Amino acid sequence: MALLIRGGTVVSTNGQRQLDVRIDGEKIVEMGVDLPQKDSEIVDADGCFLFPGFIDTHTHMELDNGPGTLNVSDEFPTASVAAVAKGTTTVMDMATPQKGHSLQDCLDTWNRLSKDKTSCDYTFHMSVIEWSDNMAEQIKAMAAKGITSFKMYMAYDNLRVSDDGIYEAMKAIKAVHGMLGIHCENGDLVNALQQEYLAAGCYAPKYHPITRPNILEAEAIERYLTIAALADLPVNIVHLSTKESLEVVRAARKRGQKVFVESCPQYFFLDDRLYDLPDFESAKYICSPPLRKPADIAALWTGLENGEIDTMGTDHCAFNFKNQKVVGKDNFTKIPGGMPGVETRGELMYTAGVAGGKITPEQFVGLMSEHAAHQFGMYPQKGVIQTGSDADIVVWDPKAQNVISAKTQLSNVDYTAYEGFKTQGAAHQVYLRGQKVAEDGKLLKGQQGQFIARHESEYNFNK
Ligand SMILES: [Zn+2]
Repeated sequence: MALLIRGGTVVSTNGQRQLDVRIDGEKIVEMGVDLPQKDSEIVDADGCFLFPGFIDTHTHMELDNGPGTLNVSDEFPTASVAAVAKGTTTVMDMATPQKGHSLQDCLDTWNRLSKDKTSCDYTFHMSVIEWSDNMAEQIKAMAAKGITSFKMYMAYDNLRVSDDGIYEAMKAIKAVHGMLGIHCENGDLVNALQQEYLAAGCYAPKYHPITRPNILEAEAIERYLTIAALADLPVNIVHLSTKESLEVVRAARKRGQKVFVESCPQYFFLDDRLYDLPDFESAKYICSPPLRKPADIAALWTGLENGEIDTMGTDHCAFNFKNQKVVGKDNFTKIPGGMPGVETRGELMYTAGVAGGKITPEQFVGLMSEHAAHQFGMYPQKGVIQTGSDADIVVWDPKAQNVISAKTQLSNVDYTAYEGFKTQGAAHQVYLRGQKVAEDGKLLKGQQGQFIARHESEYNFNK
């Protein structure tokens, strides 16, 4: 039966307007003022915003990366419930191959771990962790299967590729009109600093940010953008976290370079004083890049307000405090890095951003959904409420109030970095391809997620 959502205010980056939205099957079939009911069931969205389903550009819902790897506590079956119940209808998960294995092997693994187990739609960024002669062919094969974005690392010895390998990958990605995102930190210097501090007997979590200072991110971004300029490829920076990095991006854009920036809520709400907490509590906040200083947070908010940040991901990568983070009790470099976040992104960004008067609902939609759909080849299937698009709709109640707590969260992890945070605004109902899958933070219908094959990035088309 068709649904007619009445009385809500539809928001896109172009503006907001009170419109009725008719859904039939998986699609939005009609929009307009005072649409006739016909045989549709009425959904009352009076006083609510209608946002396009949120897209999380950066999750780790699996780390199935070979023997000896610690896996995340919150995998596709649970993390996707936490996502969709709060408005995220599509996640872009980081698929990471094992060394020496093909990208296809990795895709097979990620398909197996997600298929029929995921409650929101999903797609993958494929990681390229080594460069070899046939990698260009493999990238082409991935793009043909709808995996048109790729991830690389400049830090982590088991994942990083040297500058010439990154350059080769860029040429291959350019050939398929794909999108590259890189984790930017100078890996050699992170290693050197870690060795230096460990040798001096500094083992506590508070040395984590000290061994990954701002300038190591800014330098890596500068180098990344230099390689991208050489390859003439528009590129994405994942989880940008510092003031200095934003300045590097500004300079590159001023030169005419096309650069996309992703950041994450943790770099807007949490700062590095949390690494001074006693009793190893600080381990909860270990992630890379690390939490930064209040001055960085202020700079990021300014960047967000100015439209310098394109997308908000979460880098959702959940490890339990009690039995997983504790592995690094005697050595901060051994603490599994990452924090949960997929569940709280919408409420946090709406609270401080929109309710806090820093950004408009239109900007919020851009950051949470629309920009990602454009950048990663999903528009207009995703990222917009318009006739013909997937009926992924968040009926958002701007008056709802909640308090974030590990006791009530859906993510399968024993803490939240936002314990006690009061939020304003919440997803009242969530529609995934036309089905009401969640209401007031509770899942109604699970495992409805599908793999989304994506087209070329429109920014790299005809480059
Ligand atoms: Zn990540």
